[in-house]
Amino acid sequence: MANEAVTQVQEIRDITKIERIGAHSHIRGLGLDDALEPRPISQGMVGQQAARRAAGVILEMVKDGKIAGRAVLIAGQPGTGKTAIAMGMAQALGSDTPFTAIAGSEIFSLEMSRTEALTQAFRRSIGVRIKEETEIIEGEVVEIQIDRPANTSGAKVGKLTLKTTEMETVYDLGTKMIESLTKEKVQAGDIITIDKATGKISKLGRSFTRARDYDAMGPQTKFVQCPEGELQKRKEVVHTVSLHEIDVINSRTQGFLALFSGDTGEIKSEVRDQINAKVSEWREEGKAEIVPGVLFIDEVHMLDIECFSYLNRALESDMAPILIMATNRGITKIRGTNYPSPHGIPIDLLDRLLIISTKPYTEKEIKQILTIRCEEEDVEMSEEALEILTRIGMETSLRYSIQLITAASLACRKRKGTEVDVDDIKRVYSLFLDEHRSTQFLQEYQDQFLFSEDTSKPSAPP
Ligand code: ATP
Repeated sequence: MANEAVTQVQEIRDITKIERIGAHSHIRGLGLDDALEPRPISQGMVGQQAARRAAGVILEMVKDGKIAGRAVLIAGQPGTGKTAIAMGMAQALGSDTPFTAIAGSEIFSLEMSRTEALTQAFRRSIGVRIKEETEIIEGEVVEIQIDRPANTSGAKVGKLTLKTTEMETVYDLGTKMIESLTKEKVQAGDIITIDKATGKISKLGRSFTRARDYDAMGPQTKFVQCPEGELQKRKEVVHTVSLHEIDVINSRTQGFLALFSGDTGEIKSEVRDQINAKVSEWREEGKAEIVPGVLFIDEVHMLDIECFSYLNRALESDMAPILIMATNRGITKIRGTNYPSPHGIPIDLLDRLLIISTKPYTEKEIKQILTIRCEEEDVEMSEEALEILTRIGMETSLRYSIQLITAASLACRKRKGTEVDVDDIKRVYSLFLDEHRSTQFLQEYQDQFLFSEDTSKPSAPP
């Protein structure tokens, strides 16, 4: 290669959030079709059709910007999928829409006031989409040479020869680039782009010189003509960060390391004022836009009157995220007062809410949810074991039966089995109590526990 030049493309490691198999990791959206009708089972969602339909309508309102100053309340019995629906809404809004989930009780802490905790939760749920320009190199792949497996982050692990109309250039490949090469199934003859800022490689299609491959690849394949002339061009890249992240980075007392420890403490209101002013300046200059995300507050009845009045006020802001609250309480006292109110929420806030209710699941739906969870956790389970687990779910709670999946699969692995069977379920059912059996156990043996307050039974003689 006469014109060969070796170029280093800077590689930036993504600090991606670690994805674990969480309680809701099987939920990938609301499972609606184009007419916003819920499909019986889709995107990990099962049943609860009325609530999903309502959630879909709310999403449309959000997308049309018609929900300012309102909020959503999902009310229903425990384990009826309130959190799952909120997760589904967040997923449907897209991956760069911030989603924050907190439980009402989490904001009671000694480190910061309740309103500060709520403010942080609000600002975590507001994204700032910042646009930047980057250089994109486009050309046809001549050769890919991988020297070592891509497991040493940041290190050079291979070379890529790219032909532009000007010349053939050899690029050093880093781990991240190998990952995107593999993901996009890039091979010689493909037209690709390399993002100089992030090192991300994207496949555009195949060059016309290889048009005979068309039939083999099928009609989905996008063809691009091998571009002529100067092949380096500028493209806009977009990052989304939350207002809270900007606050923390700019807070002199904390510094950006607090983002990793989560120990951010209180942030001064002057810092926030400055950030707000800066962000509105960027918005005016067209450098940034605000992405209202979703703030989900579970167990909202745990908030007190002061928090509710904060929420009322915060919803008025033009940057407010979509507030989704969930509760499993009926009429109960508003915390911090002696007044009862529906769901423990003051009437003035209730008045602003769109209320969605969830209903208990049928046996068939519980079985379907358990099947999805088994797939998510990579657990093979016999049909009889699944039947029993479904019955346990009906008699105890959905959440308890979901939890038994992991435990039963461990029991199965211990006996070197490959498929969870009825005995594994029985074993973990007797090892771990559900709420009902635990209460029964306490009632039988309460005298032997310390400081027991139940006076319905005579205590044991001293
Ligand atoms: P709580 O009132 O106790 O907070 P909840 O109503 O928020 O309960 P979830 O936590 O959403 O209930 O549901 C319990 C489990 O069941 C979760 O793992 C959830 O992902 C799953 N689940 C609930 N409903 C559905 C559904 N319709 N489709 C699929 N999975 C579901």
